[in-house]
Amino acid sequence: MEQTLVVLKPDAVLRGLIGEIVGRFEKVGLKIVAAKFLMVKKELGEKHYPADRESFLRGMGEKTLENYKKMGADPVKLLGTADSLEIGRMIREWLIEYISTGPVFAFVLEGPHAVELVRKLCGHTLPLISPPGTIRGDFCYDSSYLANTAKRAIKNLIHASGSIEEAKYEIPLWFSPAEIYSYERVEERVMR
Ligand code: ADP
Ligand code: MG
Repeated sequence: MEQTLVVLKPDAVLRGLIGEIVGRFEKVGLKIVAAKFLMVKKELGEKHYPADRESFLRGMGEKTLENYKKMGADPVKLLGTADSLEIGRMIREWLIEYISTGPVFAFVLEGPHAVELVRKLCGHTLPLISPPGTIRGDFCYDSSYLANTAKRAIKNLIHASGSIEEAKYEIPLWFSPAEIYSYERVEERVMR
C-alpha cells in the first residue's frame, strides 16, 4: 500500500478539468485520503521544488536536453546553457512562479502501487509525446520548445510524486497527519 501526492496545477483548474482528472483516479480504484483547494505561497512552492535536490534538478535538465536533441534545437540558443543542472535551476524558478499563478487542487491518493499507477495515468512530462489515454496526452499539447521560447514552465496540468521517496517528502509539505483520513472503499472488499 502506497500514498502519493497529486497537485492539479493552475492550468487544470482554469480549464475546468478537476472533475475529469479526479474521476480517472477514482475509477481505477485509487482512494482519495486527503484533499484541499489552495493558492500556493512562495514558501511552499520553494519546498515542493527543492533547490538542494540535485537529482531532481539534473533530471529536469537531462529530460530537456534529450528532447532538444530529438528536435534538433540548440539549448545554448534557447536557454543560454547546455548544462543540465543549470537548466534544472532555471526550470525550478519557472515552476515556482507557475504553481502560484492561480489556485491548485491538491490531494493524496492511496492504493497498491499508487505511485507508479498514478504516474502511468498522468503520462510523460512532455504533453507532446505523452500517449493518448493518459491525462497529459488527452488534455494538453505543450512542449519544451513552446515553453522555453516563452521562458516559462511546461503547462502539463498535473504534478504527481515521481517515486515513493518523493511522495514521503512531499505529502507532509501539503498535509498534516490529521488531514489524512482512513476509510475503506467498496472495491477493497472485492479485491480481498
Ligand atoms: P514530472 O512532472 O513528470 O515529474 P519533472 O519532475 O522532471 O517532471 O519536472 C517537473 C515539472 O517541470 C514538469 O511537470 C514541467 O511542468 C516542468 N518542466 C520540465 N521540463 C521543463 C522544461 N524543459 N521547460 C519548462 N518546464 C519544464
Ligand atoms: Mg517530478
